[in-house]
Amino acid sequence: MPDSSPYDRPVQLWKMTRRQFREGIYDSSLKGAIIPTGSTEQHNEHLEMFHDTVSAVHIAEQVAQKLYPGVVVTTPIAIGVSEHWMDHKGTLTTRPEIFTELVHDVADSMKRGGINHVLVVNGHAGNAKPMLDCLDDLQSRLGIDFDFCSYWEAYDADLVKKNMASGNCPGHASEFETSFAYAAFPSHVHWEGVDYDSAELTISLPDRVTQDRNFHHEAKLANAVKGKAMIDVAVNWVANKMQGMIGR
Ligand SMILES: [Zn+2]
Repeated sequence: MPDSSPYDRPVQLWKMTRRQFREGIYDSSLKGAIIPTGSTEQHNEHLEMFHDTVSAVHIAEQVAQKLYPGVVVTTPIAIGVSEHWMDHKGTLTTRPEIFTELVHDVADSMKRGGINHVLVVNGHAGNAKPMLDCLDDLQSRLGIDFDFCSYWEAYDADLVKKNMASGNCPGHASEFETSFAYAAFPSHVHWEGVDYDSAELTISLPDRVTQDRNFHHEAKLANAVKGKAMIDVAVNWVANKMQGMIGR
């Protein structure tokens, strides 16, 4: 945060006091909120289940720091729509309508707190369709400037080709997400003890068996340099989008 800033509040809602939030609303320095959405779901043999949530939070925090003091990051929604991964024990999932209604309620809470620009920054692909299917409805019910994006919408084919040897992005727990983790939180990558060929997996669909194995091998192409390059592009893209909203 800039040294010259008269504000000393954190960008994360859950770290703020009520006084910090209230004063930001009253002096109009706080204009927008980002709701990070993710999942708690299997991320192959080596990545932590929280990856989609912490990656969305990571992007959101960097965006809020770039746009400081205008944007607050809400508590993330850390359980997503993950029915397609329930073959893997430990995955948590919720029904699409429960997920989208919770997003509504968080956005509505921010509206009631005095924020009129709310952007959902999503880190789990399974959340995208449920959100897009009801985006018009949520916008009209909320009656504020409300939008949704998945942070990898920042990436075009040329960027993926340049940075991802597998050509696969976002994929799932493969080269991209593992590179993101190496760059942002390397302690979340656990190759120790991984022996894919002897893992007792219970994947019901044959094409998913192949996909899971491919993702495992593609993950070995990951490194922090490519992760950082991809994170920076996403932060700039989301920051532009959020700036456009709070500037309205
Ligand atoms: Zn993921």
